[in-house]
Amino acid sequence: MSVRILPNNLIDQIAAGEVVERPASVVKELIENALDAGADQIVIDVADGGRTLINIVDNGGGMSRDDLQKCIQRHATSKLPDDDLLAINSMGFRGEALPSIASVGDMTIDTNGMQLDCSTGEIKPSAWEGGTRVRVENLFSKTPARLKFLRTDRAEMMSVVEVVKKLALARPDVGFILNNKWRYPKGRPIMDRIVAVMGDDACERMLNVECRVLNDGENNIKNSTLKLTGFISEPTLRRASSIDQYLFVNGRPVKDKVLVGALRAAYMDVMSAREFPLCVLYLEVPPREVDVNVSPAKTEVHFLEPSRVRAFIIKTLRDALAVPMARNAEHRERLWQQPTEQSFNSNNDILKVCEQAIGIRYSDPAFGQGPDSEYRIPYPDADEQPLGRVIGQVGNKYIIAESAKGMVVVDQHAAHERIVYEKLKNREIKTQPLLSPIVVKLKPEEVQALETIGAELSASGLKVSEFGPDAVAIYEKPADWDMDWAALFRDIASEVLSHGHSSKLSEKLHLKLANHACHYSVRAGQKLDLCSMDALLRDIEKTERAGSCNHGRPVYKIIQISEIDSWFERL
Ligand code: ADP
Ligand code: MG
Repeated sequence: MSVRILPNNLIDQIAAGEVVERPASVVKELIENALDAGADQIVIDVADGGRTLINIVDNGGGMSRDDLQKCIQRHATSKLPDDDLLAINSMGFRGEALPSIASVGDMTIDTNGMQLDCSTGEIKPSAWEGGTRVRVENLFSKTPARLKFLRTDRAEMMSVVEVVKKLALARPDVGFILNNKWRYPKGRPIMDRIVAVMGDDACERMLNVECRVLNDGENNIKNSTLKLTGFISEPTLRRASSIDQYLFVNGRPVKDKVLVGALRAAYMDVMSAREFPLCVLYLEVPPREVDVNVSPAKTEVHFLEPSRVRAFIIKTLRDALAVPMARNAEHRERLWQQPTEQSFNSNNDILKVCEQAIGIRYSDPAFGQGPDSEYRIPYPDADEQPLGRVIGQVGNKYIIAESAKGMVVVDQHAAHERIVYEKLKNREIKTQPLLSPIVVKLKPEEVQALETIGAELSASGLKVSEFGPDAVAIYEKPADWDMDWAALFRDIASEVLSHGHSSKLSEKLHLKLANHACHYSVRAGQKLDLCSMDALLRDIEKTERAGSCNHGRPVYKIIQISEIDSWFERL
């Protein structure tokens, strides 16, 4: 066989294999183009999972005649004004999407009074004014092999919904409507959009993240700033998959190993590895330090300094997880009220245009207008206690409280353990010198092991010294703490004997102490009076990382009134 240069239509179909894998990828490319064109309202209609019709209308700047002619040529892009591949601020610049889509479906583009038929390249006058409408019919009908690989219409539609959700979170300032059913109106507080995308349980349980660092290092990227903003879920709010993890780099949705790994690491001690926190995180990196165009679908990124990015994210998220609940509640209250900034206010009423063109009624008061009281999800007064008022106890294990959100169930043992642990860490434990020391009998090697960690023990509130070859004496201990000291010391000594004097020792000591302290103070199976239950709740609200105990088990759960309603079929 001799070498031959492939004809353009085949080249386009091959490229399409990478860029437009399925209807959802077409929707993604077209929405990205609309965003790049400055649209702040985008209306998407998809029929039969996208196989028969994908119609996308935007109110962006549209195209000139010249642009319209060029846009379906391969490698035609308006997004690389010079030849610098790294200084990119748009959603992408491969210049492949339109020609690829045109090669695998019947596409027409209407813009500024013109219509381009992409199969013939012919431009006709059109009644379409302002903005752009891209209509793709019979996707993959020219490539039956691809068509065979599509899943059910329903499954393809779900992928389309995922794409729209991602972009709706990438650009909370832009209004999106998909099939007149998924509605993400513009001009509302960011929390409204998060709840619309992730579901009601995200309401009031997302923690704010905001941090910026300047690199003053010696290397070639000194003076560059990294910025991370967004929201992450309290550790008690989790999903069984990564479905509600939305990550953006410079405004683009990405699926990136560095970011996902950093997220997991940040939650390591508050959530098990089988569970997934919710997040919407926006990372901003100077364009020169990240390559977003490495994969055709543009979901992977390459960082110039991945380890720096990772460390920055882990630290920022851990700090956010450590903020006490009461402070978060205040902050959230403010965010509920702030509408998202609008990129620009268009006077081009896209919804009316769509209604006329497609004959569907889109306009409704909930779309495209400022916040209205009816749409807002009520938020309790900031001065109200987040964990509510104690009602009682069940099973001598769980505290039940009523809050504005619904019913709060607290695992009293896990709660106490968390409080003790955090207090120890912050050295808030009061100690008490003992008039007559407590003598604890141990094995000689255990005594020796404890002898080597005297400093750590005293940081945890315990003054201990050798008392003969096979005993230690406690001279000072945390006030009100009485426990099985021999069991505690055996536990600690075996840790030291097997792992040596590790840097994590203090942390482990705190954990063990908290554990033992809990077994001897508030434990499961213990009846508590209202006052101590109330004190426990108020303490948790002030405690860092209150969502989970030290083992990552949840400390409390909030059952929304709407959920209780559904138990009783009150809809
Ligand atoms: P890229 O987005 O990578 O530049 P595309 O093939 O997706 O490549 O689009 C080619 C060009 O067509 C874009 O650079 C842009 O100038 C123009 N274009 C595409 N869609 C729109 C739109 N909705 N509004 C205005 N211009 C558009
Ligand atoms: Mg594009």
